[in-house]
Amino acid sequence: MFVIQCPYCGERDLSEFSYGGEAHIARPKNSEKMSDAEWAEFVFMRSNPKGVFAERWNHAAGCRRWFNMLRNTATDDILAVYRIGEQPPKVEALLPVTPSGEAPIGSGNDAVKVIRPGEGADDGAGGEAEV
Ligand SMILES: [Zn+2]
Repeated sequence: MFVIQCPYCGERDLSEFSYGGEAHIARPKNSEKMSDAEWAEFVFMRSNPKGVFAERWNHAAGCRRWFNMLRNTATDDILAVYRIGEQPPKVEALLPVTPSGEAPIGSGNDAVKVIRPGEGADDGAGGEAEV
């Protein structure tokens, strides 16, 4: 069973939720002045990283409210959930750049740490993602 923590209702099964795409996509101002190519870029083009990704979810079979989630797309680990309008917690990679030169975040490196407000940047722990 895959459980998601709704920020309003608590833990619920994945089957109650709907995926809503990438989070933090702001509608452009003056969109009437945009070219078709610029509009298509806004409407269709989204990032698709292997690693930490901010996405929107809806608790469709529950409170029906939208919220954001930081999820590692490589491991399906849910790193944080937060309400719409809140800033995502900072994610810091704990490992150096991979030998092949990939960036530690967004390359499938699942050894990341979520830093919540009031927490230090490094507590000496390493190797596992915190939820
Ligand atoms: Zn809910």
